Amino acid sequence: MSDFKTFDANKARRDFPILSSKINGQALIYLDNAATTQKPRCVIDALSRFYKLSNSNVHRGSHTLSNRATSDFEAARETVAGFINAAYSQEIIWTRGATEAINLIAHAFADTQLRAGDTVLVSVMEHHANIVPWQQIAIKNKAQVIPIPLTPEGRLDLIAYQQLLNQFQPKIVAITHVSNALGVINPVVDITRMAKSVGATVVIDGAQAIAHEVVDVQQIGCDFYLFSGHKCYGPTGIGVLWGRKALLEEMPPWQCGGEMIERVSFAGTTFNTLPFKFEAGTPPIADAIAFAEALRYLNSWDRKAIAKHEQALRQQAVALCQKIEGVTVLAAAPDNVGILSFIVDGVHPQDLATLLDQSGIAIRSGHHCTMPLMEYLGCSGTIRASFALYNTAAEVELFAGVLKQYISQLR
Ligand code: PLP
Repeated sequence: MSDFKTFDANKARRDFPILSSKINGQALIYLDNAATTQKPRCVIDALSRFYKLSNSNVHRGSHTLSNRATSDFEAARETVAGFINAAYSQEIIWTRGATEAINLIAHAFADTQLRAGDTVLVSVMEHHANIVPWQQIAIKNKAQVIPIPLTPEGRLDLIAYQQLLNQFQPKIVAITHVSNALGVINPVVDITRMAKSVGATVVIDGAQAIAHEVVDVQQIGCDFYLFSGHKCYGPTGIGVLWGRKALLEEMPPWQCGGEMIERVSFAGTTFNTLPFKFEAGTPPIADAIAFAEALRYLNSWDRKAIAKHEQALRQQAVALCQKIEGVTVLAAAPDNVGILSFIVDGVHPQDLATLLDQSGIAIRSGHHCTMPLMEYLGCSGTIRASFALYNTAAEVELFAGVLKQYISQLR
């Protein structure tokens, strides 16, 4: 419990207007942060400030508003580059989210690399967004997608991983940094090093890591890293694909239209330089600018203290849930990020989620877009409570108390 003192979640809560809402007559306890985080006032203000004072399209204008929008938009790119320690801001490609970023890599990279018989390794714990794009491209190229199994504790089985690397010599290894269903943190530096030793290209899905871990893409050593803004206190509709400059330069464009071209002619079209080659059409300008604000907000706190705080909340929740009869906590390791999944004997997750909502508690139930993981765990779904910097020990206490009550009603 001592970690709670090092991060002042109650102070942070004042920055998030929605947290003072009442839901079904009860004070909101928002524990669905792995689905999307709430937004601090500075992010909401950045969105409305853009539309009030700077709204204009970027890059093409010669007027003041357009120049202002362009410089704020490009400054946001620099902010993201700094946040993940990218070597060049041209390595930051704006996307609509993590899903679009993975699809971009699958279409503009994997599609050009995979040949019949080639392999893409993913893990059993992947979100569907880091499985299905690879499956589709694999089918097209007569390649295969092979899953890396997990240990009984829900961690990536590194021995099996090494064996699969040796056996298949995969072209691509695509792994999540943090599991959205279990909160397990994967050792991405080791995973990358091992993949590189057989010549694989490494894609890391950072959708669940970016708000919790300090990410340094150069230190990880991967080739692509991607995430969504909305899971990290930013708006929906904005995401980031980071890729190594040399790789991105070699890749053909994916989506085509305005902005991504250099010159269009019926005799042949040439393409823009990085990062614009991958940014066809009008980008989500206000969202990118507001996302940069979210990252500045996050960096205004001690990131390590936030991580400890969230882990402490999770541990508190694990301890309280384990005391409730019928509850099984999945992957209970103390070093996971603040995501807690559990199942309850004889109780359907959806029934519990609906009841908790009556008490103003927002959690998630179901397969969490990880059907292969659910199959592996032998359940159809779990109940997931996920924590953010603004959650408190008092909320966890309340959540566990209400949970216990509902479980005894349902069993
Ligand atoms: N990857 C992981 C690990 C996720 O948790 C999610 C969303 O839950 C995604 C990818 C997809 O993110 P988005 O829906 O923002 O594109």
